Amino acid sequence: MLLERSTWPAVEAYFANSDLVVLGFGSTENHGRHNPLGTDWMAPQRIMDLMGERRPEVLYGPTLRLGSADHFIDYPGTLSLGDDLLHQVAARICGQLYHYGARHFCFINGHGGNTRALTMTGYELNDRGCQVALLNWWKLAGELNPAWGGGHGGAQETSADLWIDPESVDMTALGPMSLVDDGGSNIKTQGFDVVEFEGVHPSLIRRARRYATNGWIGKDDPRQASAEWGEQMLTTFADWAVKFVDAFAQSPLPPQVDR
Ligand SMILES: [Zn+2]
Repeated sequence: MLLERSTWPAVEAYFANSDLVVLGFGSTENHGRHNPLGTDWMAPQRIMDLMGERRPEVLYGPTLRLGSADHFIDYPGTLSLGDDLLHQVAARICGQLYHYGARHFCFINGHGGNTRALTMTGYELNDRGCQVALLNWWKLAGELNPAWGGGHGGAQETSADLWIDPESVDMTALGPMSLVDDGGSNIKTQGFDVVEFEGVHPSLIRRARRYATNGWIGKDDPRQASAEWGEQMLTTFADWAVKFVDAFAQSPLPPQVDR
């Protein structure tokens, strides 16, 4: 049951019998020179479509296409709400769903940068007597099959894009990962923020384009990507996610807490 394609009486009737809602959270941001900026909302949206085929009786809300991606704002086209505004938007959406009767919230998240704001929202809902699940699909997919694990804009996400919207991917633009050591002598860039110095890994806080000139980062080289990988990964994940949601919907609600 897709919220946007339902009438309000249908939603009212739904919440008379269920307090479960599944919501998508994405981002519009750099994913390397070859992937579309919408990569991080396209996957959650497809996952929710697949879940809807498997459990049409569950209510699926919209996927938010903007998230928190301040580290990427030097790559043109990246549009970031930032942590504070994403938190406000998520809290507002969830607060309205709470008013209609939602108590079990399942977030299908496509972007690591959203985690902080969604966790803040989750604590607040938890204090109001709700259960909140955060499914960071790319991490969980890597647990379902370690061969599917990936970084940012690498083979994992490129495979998802090649299955969901192949025309949005430009494999001819794919270049090397291109990490720049911009932290001074003997400080080596390793990935997002993380550098290596004498075998130890502190962080440098900086906009990503200064050290990642291509924009994709990870051990999973996008040249290995395929639509078949994307399809198998996302359908397997959706198979797991609907079973998780079945169990999650039965989880006891916590007491309300005033803070
Ligand atoms: Zn991504």
